[in-house]
Amino acid sequence: MGLSYIHAVNMGLAAAVICGLSAIFLFDRSRKSALWWMLSFAAVLLSALSSAALPFVTAQPIAGYVSFAFTIMAITCLNVGIAWHYRVATPWRIIDTVVAVTLVVTFISTMVLPIGPVSWTVEAVSLAGAQAVGLFILMRSEKGKRDRVFIAFLALSMLNFLSHPVLEMMARIENVQNGLADAAVAMHINNALIMIGLATFLMLRLANQLLADLKGQSETDALSGLLNRNGFNAAVHSARDRRSSKGTASLVICDLDHFKSINDQHGHHVGDRVIAAFGRLVRAGARDGDVCGRVGGEEFCIYLLNSDARAARLFAEWLRVAFASTSYSELSSNTRFTASFGVTQVQADETIEEAYVRADKALYQAKRDGRNCVRSVGEASELSGIKFSSAAG
Ligand code: GH3
Ligand code: MG
Ligand code: MG
Repeated sequence: MGLSYIHAVNMGLAAAVICGLSAIFLFDRSRKSALWWMLSFAAVLLSALSSAALPFVTAQPIAGYVSFAFTIMAITCLNVGIAWHYRVATPWRIIDTVVAVTLVVTFISTMVLPIGPVSWTVEAVSLAGAQAVGLFILMRSEKGKRDRVFIAFLALSMLNFLSHPVLEMMARIENVQNGLADAAVAMHINNALIMIGLATFLMLRLANQLLADLKGQSETDALSGLLNRNGFNAAVHSARDRRSSKGTASLVICDLDHFKSINDQHGHHVGDRVIAAFGRLVRAGARDGDVCGRVGGEEFCIYLLNSDARAARLFAEWLRVAFASTSYSELSSNTRFTASFGVTQVQADETIEEAYVRADKALYQAKRDGRNCVRSVGEASELSGIKFSSAAG
């Protein structure tokens, strides 16, 4: 009664986890780690099922071996899922070798050896070895290396497998006639606890990743590859919260010139290509930590970290020249488009919105001055009077 009750609990739990993981996979089929972890718990379910059937079959060693083989499959699927989750190449050669060796060696020991300390040790070392592959995969990823909780779980699971022969021997020594020896109960409860912990942990990891990806998608503009207005505002506010009081930062606002007539003359699809090209240039020119967004139809905003107004103006000049020199495969080779820029330094004691208003005024000045130029306000440098502009037309 005791043992079949534990198996029933394990099966129910594995079934619940399979439902949860398949819901995640059906929601986003590109999330292959959810698929592999679902297969892992399907193998756990089959392993528990074959263990539960053990008292009712005559060929006990073979039934025990089938349960062992399903556990190896469960660990293998878990390992492949880890590789997908942490975006490292799946080491199939190592995985295949470990699966083949553990299955063959344990099969031979099942056939040749009597059930006892040696056969238990062969099984335990095989399971711990298969689990070690998961740890190896985790350590190949920079993010995985820092995931101490996952590392601890896998190490704990290996120790749990290695404790099986000892507990099996203790259960034999206890020699309980009816019911389960304490050591056997401890072994099954340890297995169940590791499974519950691992299932909860994997679900949390997947949920975290899913939410972070969805947040990223909802804050990204697909056409330019930059942040959208909401994403830009959120990222600038958190950058300003992080920024030390000494750090300077600047704001560059850009607006593509005569964009309406680009659409009218060449078609909307060309307008889209021009926006995408501008987004590519911004991404190429920005440094890590800078925040770049497409904040309107053909309006862009760049928050430059550790840059005063002069550095920001030089950046804007580079972007202006780079964009004005860009050609487009679907248009004649001498067709070029331009953009206008407003630049200002963000003061430590002001809000980003106040700086935005100033940069916007500078942008309108650039438009009034004939477009295809950069205008800055509040520049403290002696160069502030020099006009970098090359007005179009
Ligand atoms: P200015 O030089 O003064 O900025 O003139 P403009 O024509 O660029 O400015 P205006 O605000 O009159 O027109 C902006 C145009 O941008 C109008 C709108 O149809 C177009 N637009 C906005 N979003 C998109 C988009 O995603 N794709 C394309 N192709 N066009 C867009
Ligand atoms: Mg505009
Ligand atoms: Mg415009």
